Amino acid sequence: MKAAALEARSRRPAAQAGSKSAVEARLEKLGIRSKLDLALHLPLRYEDETRLTPLAEARPGAPVLVEAEVVDREVKYRPRRTLVVKLSQDGHDLWVRFLNFYPSQVKQFAEGKRVRLFGEVRPGFFGDEMVHPRYRIVAKDAPLPKSLTPVYPTTAGLSQALLRQKIGDALDALALEDTLDAERLAALDLQPFRESVLLLHRPPPDVDARSLEERTHPAWRRLKFDELLAQQLAMRIAYRERRAKSAPRLPDAHTLTNALVKSLPFALTRAQRQAHAVIAKDLAQPHPMRRLLQGDVGSGKTLVAALAALQAIGNGWQAALMAPTEILAEQHFLKLSHWLEPLGVRIAWVSGSLKARAKKAALAAIASGETQLAIGTHALFQEDVAFPKLGLAIVDEQHRFGVEQRLALASKGGGEPHQLMMSATPIPRTLAMSFFADLDVTVIDELPPGRTPVVTKLVAEERRDEVIARIRESCREGAQAYWVCPLIEESEQLQLKTAIETFETIQETFPDLAVGLVHGRMKPAEKAQVMADFKARKLQLLVATTVIEVGVDVPNATLMVIEHAERMGLAQLHQLRGRVGRGAQQSLAILLYYQPLSELARQRLKIIYESHDGFEIARQDLRLRGPGEFLGARQSGAPLLRFADLERDADLLEAARRMADELLAAGSAAASRHLDRWLGTRRFYLKA
Ligand code: ADP
Ligand code: MG
Repeated sequence: MKAAALEARSRRPAAQAGSKSAVEARLEKLGIRSKLDLALHLPLRYEDETRLTPLAEARPGAPVLVEAEVVDREVKYRPRRTLVVKLSQDGHDLWVRFLNFYPSQVKQFAEGKRVRLFGEVRPGFFGDEMVHPRYRIVAKDAPLPKSLTPVYPTTAGLSQALLRQKIGDALDALALEDTLDAERLAALDLQPFRESVLLLHRPPPDVDARSLEERTHPAWRRLKFDELLAQQLAMRIAYRERRAKSAPRLPDAHTLTNALVKSLPFALTRAQRQAHAVIAKDLAQPHPMRRLLQGDVGSGKTLVAALAALQAIGNGWQAALMAPTEILAEQHFLKLSHWLEPLGVRIAWVSGSLKARAKKAALAAIASGETQLAIGTHALFQEDVAFPKLGLAIVDEQHRFGVEQRLALASKGGGEPHQLMMSATPIPRTLAMSFFADLDVTVIDELPPGRTPVVTKLVAEERRDEVIARIRESCREGAQAYWVCPLIEESEQLQLKTAIETFETIQETFPDLAVGLVHGRMKPAEKAQVMADFKARKLQLLVATTVIEVGVDVPNATLMVIEHAERMGLAQLHQLRGRVGRGAQQSLAILLYYQPLSELARQRLKIIYESHDGFEIARQDLRLRGPGEFLGARQSGAPLLRFADLERDADLLEAARRMADELLAAGSAAASRHLDRWLGTRRFYLKA
């Protein structure tokens, strides 16, 4: 028999809690649709009902199981209706109180009945008492459960008793055969599956409770391993399926790409050349590329993307470049037009803010195939955009897009285009191995030469006057500076107001300097004009919102003041700071902050002060914020791993990865057995 848990003190007997379909609906809320789901619904914690504690020894602080005989019972009406039962064991009394009860319960506690109660014993008015314990009337010497009582995560209207019963039935009905053979299990020191599942639901009383709680018990490790293995298998299979799909072969004819390289006022860095070579090779393959190009801010990813686009275009195919914000997309548009139009490439610009007529014209040019390169925001993959021959889809800052958006762009060409994703945010190793395991990754690990590291200063707001004096002096000597407005996340209206106010204050503070303003709500032409004036040194100070975070490139600007730096995220600060230090001159970023600082803000400022390495900063950012940021887009709301924790179980992840490769290489039936079991339960492994 299963662990005979005490009946729940629910008002109704558990088995009658609602009709069958209501129970099913509640189970479904917990993600439970099958017997196997029930078996994999693991306890949150356990209660020990395997031992009886003598009443005389029960102390407050932890629930215990006691057994005593009813001496008396009484329903009291003051202060409110209460059933009070007096019980006794070996001359020790216990008072039990119920505030909600049924007449049948009053009858149950007949004098002389033997009752088992689970709860906390506390000193009360009359003596030791228990309030609303779980209880059961038992015969003398009734057997005790042999295992701990599981407490499951549940939902409203689904009692522990019913859940236990359902799960118990499932465990008895299922064979829970192992998907992995004994040899492989032994090699990894893993326990059999059935044994592990059973132990987690019904642990013996002498189990190492702590390892269960911390999920380090061998039974937990087995389940975590299985989950990770399923994920790895799914990812590897997705990867293989993609390799089996066909895409246009786009070998590099070198005409356009060489022409671009020749036209540049600089040489490609070693890292850019290598990245370009890898991508050029991918594009020549008859199956779709899906490559992530990672590189720190300013490492020159755009140029690598431009070369890839030219390769597609040189083969008579179209390319599309999608960026997450209008500003960033526009920067790309300007830069790529500057590079590619001299080569005769026909470029279209598509954004949400385009006037109807301009948009219609752009879409027509794309649809007719006249456009060779389309650049824009997510407006690029809306239904009304049709690419007759999309060979390459490029996605900048890929982690800011959802999977669906990327897929939408990828499906634009009818067939499967090659995909190049770019990101300045490195994926940590464990994530790269798990949720991103279906991507190929190339890293640009070098910045173009001639950049001088930016000196960063943290300055408290009280010392603003010193900062102003410093800026004034430098600008008089010919330097140019950015003055970044405080970030107002709540509303665009407030952000605009703040930008204008900051602009006015700065104009008053520096009557001797030419001050400009650039913000996100300006028309593209206005923005371009201000930027052009700044570049031409007609402006010495440029007040800006975080719109300059990406793309802006004015090498003579060597100073930056960031107001309310404590409000900004690490990636944002790093990107902003990357706007200076673009020339040979020494640059300075002054981060003004307001006190008191929160602990998180203090840590962020310390990191940005100490590090210049975007990858290191991203790693620290991840440590502070957790992996949700990355997975948010990738998972689009689907639950993460249920059992395994990528940080804590990194060793299991490695092992699962190796085994996935082994199983697939061996063409083993175990792989599909394993996937059937785990993918059948929850589809949370992405193939996008
Ligand atoms: P990111 O990798 O952050 O997207 P960008 O592609 O915007 O970086 O490049 C940053 C700046 O560096 C741009 O102005 C770009 O023209 C310039 N750049 C790119 N490659 C080189 C190079 N090899 N040498 C010098 N400057 C370069
Ligand atoms: Mg970029």
